[in-house]
Amino acid sequence: MQNLRDRPIRQKITFLIMTITAAVLLLAFAALFYFQAYTLKRHSAHELAVIGELTAHECAAAVRFKDEDAATQILTGLRTMPQIVSARLELLDKQRLAFFGSAREEGEIQGARVTSGVKFNGDRILLAQPVTLSGVREGTLFLLADLHATRSQLLKLYGGIFGLVLLACLLLAFALSGQFLRFVTDPILRLADTARTVADHSDYSVRARKVCNDEVGLLTDAFNQMLAQIQAQDSAVRKAEEKYRLIFENAIEGMFQSTPDGKYLNVNAAFARMYGCDSPEEIITQVSDIAQTTYVDPARREEFKRLIETHGVVELFEYEAYRKDGTKMWLCENARAVRDGTGAILYYEGTVQDVTERKRVEEVERASKAKTEFLSRVSHELRTPLNAIIGFGQLLDRQSPTETQRPRIRHILSAGQHLLGLINEVLDISRIEAGKLHLSVEPVAVADMLEEALDLMRPLAAERKIELCAEVEMDAAVYVMADRQRFKQVLLNLLTNAVKYTPESGQVAVSYYSNGHNNIRITVSDTGPGIPAEKLGRLFMPFERLGAEQSNVEGTGLGLALSQRLMHAMGGAIGVEFSAPRGSKFWVELPRAKSPLPKAVPHKRNGSGRRENSKAVTRKVLYIEDNFSNLTLIEEMFAERPQFELLTAMQGKVGLDLARQHSPDLILLDLHLPDLDGHEVLRQLKSLDTTRDVPVVVISADATASQIDRLMKAGAMAYLTKPLDVVEFFRVVDQTTVTGGTTGTRQKHSAAVLAINEN
Ligand code: ADP
Repeated sequence: MQNLRDRPIRQKITFLIMTITAAVLLLAFAALFYFQAYTLKRHSAHELAVIGELTAHECAAAVRFKDEDAATQILTGLRTMPQIVSARLELLDKQRLAFFGSAREEGEIQGARVTSGVKFNGDRILLAQPVTLSGVREGTLFLLADLHATRSQLLKLYGGIFGLVLLACLLLAFALSGQFLRFVTDPILRLADTARTVADHSDYSVRARKVCNDEVGLLTDAFNQMLAQIQAQDSAVRKAEEKYRLIFENAIEGMFQSTPDGKYLNVNAAFARMYGCDSPEEIITQVSDIAQTTYVDPARREEFKRLIETHGVVELFEYEAYRKDGTKMWLCENARAVRDGTGAILYYEGTVQDVTERKRVEEVERASKAKTEFLSRVSHELRTPLNAIIGFGQLLDRQSPTETQRPRIRHILSAGQHLLGLINEVLDISRIEAGKLHLSVEPVAVADMLEEALDLMRPLAAERKIELCAEVEMDAAVYVMADRQRFKQVLLNLLTNAVKYTPESGQVAVSYYSNGHNNIRITVSDTGPGIPAEKLGRLFMPFERLGAEQSNVEGTGLGLALSQRLMHAMGGAIGVEFSAPRGSKFWVELPRAKSPLPKAVPHKRNGSGRRENSKAVTRKVLYIEDNFSNLTLIEEMFAERPQFELLTAMQGKVGLDLARQHSPDLILLDLHLPDLDGHEVLRQLKSLDTTRDVPVVVISADATASQIDRLMKAGAMAYLTKPLDVVEFFRVVDQTTVTGGTTGTRQKHSAAVLAINEN
């Protein structure tokens, strides 16, 4: 049966048809045979009854007269009939008159106990025929027939015919099925062929040909529909696979799958590139122990494994790794553990980014921050002694020194100013490089700026007999985007250079024009020696003086470097148009701005009037400062102004007490105090009723913009940086104390808050 199941469908159907044909034939022949057998039996019984009746009639006289011989003779005549196997004639008293057959058959006749009629027993028929004479029963004739032989003959006959008919039918069925089965099996076989093609080539684009509309036709439709669906799904899966493969292969981030024992299962091209390998295969085949081969510190790999095994994921895990060429890089990894059904880790998978550059930038930023802090600290430390040097120098200069002393004092002052300039410029450059320079870029009128700068330069130019002029008509409507203060600083630097490097009786001219790119170019030209072309490349480098250090012109070599950085920070540029032998022409360029809406013109105070007022009144000034030389300096400075009474405190708390007790007209506050921070002293002063309205001027060596901003916001009226400029100092003192000590007038001053620093 198993064999049959695996046979081709055509053979199976042929076999079935032939089997059914044989079965049907067999059934038909069996029915026919049994009918024939039955008919034979009836016919034989009838025949036996006729023979019995005739024989009984013939024997009637022999029975009456009990003539055994005659009876035996009559019965013997029955032997000629093949089916009669035994006969017995008996009298009414059952006494046997004649008999033939075997004793077994006689026993069978007697055992049947039949007196009249026919009895069937299998192939045997027993007839009991009463023997009568003249209507009187004289005895009984028994005839026993056996149909076995006849039946066997019949069976043989039917068997033979059946065999022949069966053979003919089977041959016919075979021949016909061979022809007609094609209609049934061909569509199925074609469908099977299509299925095989699909399976063999995974080609879901083929379709089965529909040739009929029966169940096979329906099956073909369903099969084609199924193929269409599979094809659509297959294409969707392929597209998704392609998409993810492309993402994996073209990702900028490195992607990997690695085993806990340190082998790579899969990596993408970015990952291989990161390690300096030519292909993913190279890294997969060559790395057999990730911890030892790639980790600079193998203990970090252990840490990674511990974290991922505990938490299942690891995020932003940073470690240093070796590239193929042995160089080091910093990597940042996100990964997760992939486990099997039992929870055992199969592999890790995740992404890796090369963060070497970020680390380097962080390192540079750290170093830059440290540098800025260092410079800020150094400049602070230098400003404190400079305060004493320049301050006392200025005082000495104002106290009618002798002819011998005067040049010495000038030397002290000029050296001090030089050092101060140097400190300021270094600090500025470091601030710009650390990105901590706070600029307030706004529309600035070029004419105003140039006029201010030229005014400031006039004394120096006059001293050096340099003609200072503007080459263009100043147009008040031309504005540039700039930080007013820093723009002026750059202009002054260019003008100072022009004036100081141009020999006496030379010329310095300023000009400006629109350069056509919506920029305004401002030029400063001079008739000096110019700068040789071979030195121009180093012009904006810090501390490069290009040979000027051999001359007697003072300088730090930082002015142009700082100017360049300031211009860039403001979105502008700086350069030289020409230099040597006709002199130099420096330029700065800034984006042109629209002229802002007209503002109220700031009211200019009458300084001299105030000074006269201040002379008339005695004012109390409290100075809170822990540095003795600074205290002495201020004391000596106020010695020039007898109308001021100076109170001093070397500690914050003492200063607060004095402020409460004396209610001074002005408080000068240093920030570095031994007990309280100057900021805290200011806060307390501003919170007390008695001192809230007293103007506070901070005097500090800390010139950082953030510090100044912080103190001004906390309520300081002005911020002066050390070293103090005596003239500037008294200007601020006069300004803040000019109108007396009443609360109302002091409040008015808050509108004129000043922050005076090194710029
Ligand atoms: P310094 O403090 O030395 O003036 P700068 O950075 O301002 O520093 O200038 C750098 C150098 O450029 C100067 O030392 C000088 O040699 C040269 N220089 C600058 N401006 C001029 C100029 N107008 N004429 C000639 N040389 C100049």
